[in-house]
Amino acid sequence: MATIAENIQEQHRRIAAACALAGRPVQSVTLLVVSKTFPGSAVREAVAAGERCFGENYVQEGLDKIAELADLRGAIEWHLIGPLQSNKTRPVAETFDWVHSVDRLKTAQRLSEQRPAHLPPLNICLQVNISGEASKSGVSAADLPALAAAVADLPRLRLRGLMAIPEPAADFESQRQPHRALAALHQQLQARLGAQFDTLSMGMSADLEAAVAEGASLVRVGSAIFGARQAR
Ligand SMILES: *Cc1c(COP(=O)(O)O)cnc(C)c1O
Repeated sequence: MATIAENIQEQHRRIAAACALAGRPVQSVTLLVVSKTFPGSAVREAVAAGERCFGENYVQEGLDKIAELADLRGAIEWHLIGPLQSNKTRPVAETFDWVHSVDRLKTAQRLSEQRPAHLPPLNICLQVNISGEASKSGVSAADLPALAAAVADLPRLRLRGLMAIPEPAADFESQRQPHRALAALHQQLQARLGAQFDTLSMGMSADLEAAVAEGASLVRVGSAIFGARQAR
C-alpha cells in the first residue's frame, strides 16, 4: 500500500498535469488535505510531507484534532468545510482559519461577531448549491449576489470566494459542467468584490482534473490521500 506521503505526491502530480493541460501555473492551485475521520497522526504525516492546508467536516472532531495538534498550530491552516449550524459558530470563529460552508447571513453575522480581536479576519467561502438539489446545503445561484454583498460588509470576515460540492458524475465532460457554472458565478462576483475574492474551492478526489480545467484555485482531497473512510 502506498504511504500518505506517496499519495500526496500523486495528488500534486495530478494537479500539475491538469494545470499543464489548462495552461495554468501549478502554483495557482492549492491542495487542501481533507483529514476528516482520520487521526491526528495522519495529519502529522501529511505535515511532514510538506502540506499546510487541512480541511475538517465535523466541528467537534475538528476542534479536538486542532487541540491535539496544538504544537503544529503555526504550521497548519485549518479549514472547516462541512455544515455549520449557527449555534456552533463560537468555537469555530475562535479556532479555525477558514470556513468554506457559509450559506446564510445569520451564520456569517455570528462568525463576525465572535471572531476574536487578536486574530486576523476569518476567511470565508460561500457554499453554492450548484447542482440545484433540494436536499443539499448551499445558497442558490439566485440568492448568491445578495448574500455575498452582505457578507462582504461584515467587519471580522474576509470574503474569499465560493465553494461547491457538485452531484457526482462519472465522465469528465459531465464533471466539468457544475464547475464551469460555479466559475462563472465567481467571475461575476469578482468584478464587484475585487482581487481579494480569489478562491474557487471545488474538486475532490474523483473530479479534481475537471475542477482544475474550469479554474479551481483550491481542491479538497481526502480519500485519494488517506484511503476510504469508515461510514460515520
Ligand atoms: C469529504 C469531503 C471532501 C473530500 O472528499 P474525497 O472524495 O474523499 O476527496 C471534500 N470536500 C468536502 C466538503 C467533503 O466533505
